[in-house]
Parts: sequence; structure tokens; C-alpha cells
Amino acid sequence: MKFLHCTVLLLAGLAATQALAWGNHGAAAYRAFEKMPEVANAPAVMVEPLEAFLRAEENTLEALLASQEAWALANLEKYPPRPAELAFIADPARSDPARRQAFLMALRVAPNSRLALYYLPDPWSPVAGTPLAQAAVSTLPESPGSVSKFLALRAGDSVPALAVLATASEEPDYGLDIHLWDDSPSDWGGIYGFGRQPFGNPALPYSSQAPFHMGFMHESRLLYLAAPFIKRTYPLLRSHQYSTLSSLAFRTGHAYWGWRFAGLSLHYLQDLTQPFHASLAPGESGAKLLAANALALAGMPGMKNDLVVLLSNRHLVTEKYLTEAMQRAAVRQQETDLEKALHNQDRDRSYPEWSDRYVRDVVSLQARKASAALVTNLLAAMPAAYVSDPGFDFGSEESGITLLLEAARPERVKLDATLADLMANFGAHSRNALRGILRASTPP
Ligand SMILES: [Zn+2]
Repeated sequence: MKFLHCTVLLLAGLAATQALAWGNHGAAAYRAFEKMPEVANAPAVMVEPLEAFLRAEENTLEALLASQEAWALANLEKYPPRPAELAFIADPARSDPARRQAFLMALRVAPNSRLALYYLPDPWSPVAGTPLAQAAVSTLPESPGSVSKFLALRAGDSVPALAVLATASEEPDYGLDIHLWDDSPSDWGGIYGFGRQPFGNPALPYSSQAPFHMGFMHESRLLYLAAPFIKRTYPLLRSHQYSTLSSLAFRTGHAYWGWRFAGLSLHYLQDLTQPFHASLAPGESGAKLLAANALALAGMPGMKNDLVVLLSNRHLVTEKYLTEAMQRAAVRQQETDLEKALHNQDRDRSYPEWSDRYVRDVVSLQARKASAALVTNLLAAMPAAYVSDPGFDFGSEESGITLLLEAARPERVKLDATLADLMANFGAHSRNALRGILRASTPP
């Protein structure tokens, strides 16, 4: 038990650092889909409020959500069954807000999720529209250095499919998975049946969403034995829920929600293309983690504490560097290898056909395998203070740092190639998943 506790502490440090993996899902998704004919040539769609979609499709949704639960029970490891009273039962007499709440609670997402009508403009295009405050879109506090700009939409507006898809691919980071656990400081966590938060600090919003946005599916048997709770992550649940909702919406003529649910689903797959989300401790061996815990147990927590800080700093440095590079490319209107990798479709066919197993067996396994090389190249290219000094807290200093100015040459070339490779995976897997969703959306 004590051993377990220490591992919890180690994991708490790792998970607490996850703010927004690939902080720029929307920007990356614009590039990943801009040249895909199914998206680029799709007709513009008419914006529809969630309440209208739910009212129109109440009966089909009742059946779908029941089948999702059956699927999860049969296919997900460590899946906590949904309490029967949360099932979505059609009731045409109820009010729109009551139906909306029943729907969100049947999905077991935060019932105060905004799901507002808005879009993120493409960072490569001039911004024109009515700005929306972050609070209208997200229940989370604005993160320092946030680059999102939200523009308002109204019911009946016409909007490109690409904008809906790219915008929604960022939306799960706006509070949908916050405080869903028994020990969460929320009104709903206690009735959702997910159990206690498996790792991380239940008081911190981002920490509470981490088990839905990370997945440690390819760790060693020893690590699972020592810390079985690291299997209690649910990105595959979310990916399946939203992808099947997307297909239902397309099939029933609600194209706006078809694209939006598709984007929501893609978020979880995209998070798992990030090695720091698909691996417990990128670049570190399981043996080292266990040794750190053993030492901490013996009253020497130094190695464990150092690991937590280093992993957090490396995670943050990776994402900040990538975000800076993509922002600079957009400002200069000059494509780099990152943008080219994102929209290049050469790799798409090299992967297996889309299936229920794809996110686990293809996406997260690949990211897990890529983690060691990423860390090696990161350490070579970045100032040692940021990635190798456990006395430095990158998170509290990052707003004053521009990594593009500090990365070492020529080592940076290798890091850039590694990141471009990860972005190529991000693009290819996102498109393959969308192809699967669209295939399931047309009747045979
Ligand atoms: Zn996420």
C-alpha cells in the first residue's frame, strides 16, 4: 500500500503537468485536413444548436447511447459500468435544458460543458468576426500564453466543414472532462461511477481531465503490477462515444454535428500521438521508475522528485517549442516541415484500416515507441537548464522564454525532424479516423 502511495505521488507529478497536449489541436487540424478532399470539398454546413439536434434525434440517440455502453463493457479494459439511472431515455415532453443535461450526463461528461456556437479561425487566414470571451466557450481558467481566439456563430449561419472539424478537435480541453470522479469537487463526479481519480491531484481541473486525455497502454508488466491504476484511463471511451455520435449525426442529416462530433472524437486520438501522453515516463526505463519509488520508500525521495520535475519540464518544452514554431510559420505565412508533414497524405495508407482497435494498437503504440528518441533529441537541442535541471521549474518561467531563440544548432535539425514525424502521424491518424467515421456514416 505504501509502495502504491509513492507511485501515486510520482504519477501525480506527471499528470498534474499536463495542461494542453498539442496545445494547438485546432491549428494542427486545419493543416491536417485542408488538402483532404472529403473535408476541403465538403459543402458548408448550417450551424445548429445542440438542443435542436437532441430534440430531433432523441429516439435514435437513446438507442445509440445504449449501444455505446454495451460496446464499452465488451471492449474497454477496467471500464466502470455507467450507473443505470444515467441512461438516456427519450422524453419529448421535457424541456431543452433538461434534455441537454440528460444527454451530457449519459455520456458522463461535465454537465456544465458550454458546447457554445463558435469557431476558431485558421491562424493562416485573416480574422474577421465577433470575438467571444473564453468563458463563453470553456469552463476552465484561461491559461497563460493561450493563443486561441474564438469567434461567435449563430444558429443558421453557414460555416465550412473544415472550421467545424478543426475547432471541435480542440474542444475537449475546454472543460468537458473536468472533475468526473468520486473524489472530485463537483456535483456530478460522485454519481458518474468512474471511481476515485486514478492519479493526479483531484483538486486541480487539468489534473482531473488527464485520465481521459492520456493512456498508458503499452507499459511493462512490472509497472502494471506495481501501479495497476495506470490502466484506468479512458481516452478510448471518449473517442468511441464521439465518433459514433458523429456517424449518427451525419446519417440523420445533421452535418454540423457530424463534423463537430468527429472533431471531438479526434481530440483523444491526437492526444495519444503525443509521446508524453502515451507513455508514463518518456525516455526513462520502467526499472528507473521503480528504483525511484523504492528509494522514496526508504526515505530518499530525491530521485523521484527530480524525475517528476524533469518529465514535466520536458513535456512543457516540447509543446511550447512546437506551438512557437507553428505560430511563427502562420505569422510569416511560410510553410515549414511541420505544416508539410501535417497535410502530406503519403503515409495514410501505410497503416491498418480504421477499427475500434486503431487508437490503442496503432496510434498509442507508435507514440510510446517514439518517446525515447524525442527525449534524446530534446535534450540535445534545448538548453540544459530547461530539460536537465530538476532545480528549474519551466512551467513558472515559460512565459518569459522563447525557445525558438534558444534551441541549439545543429542539434535542432534532429529535433525538428522528430517533431515533423510526430505531426505526420497526427495528420495521418486524424484523417484515417475521419475516413472510418465517414464510412460508418453512409448506409451500406
Ligand atoms: Zn486533451
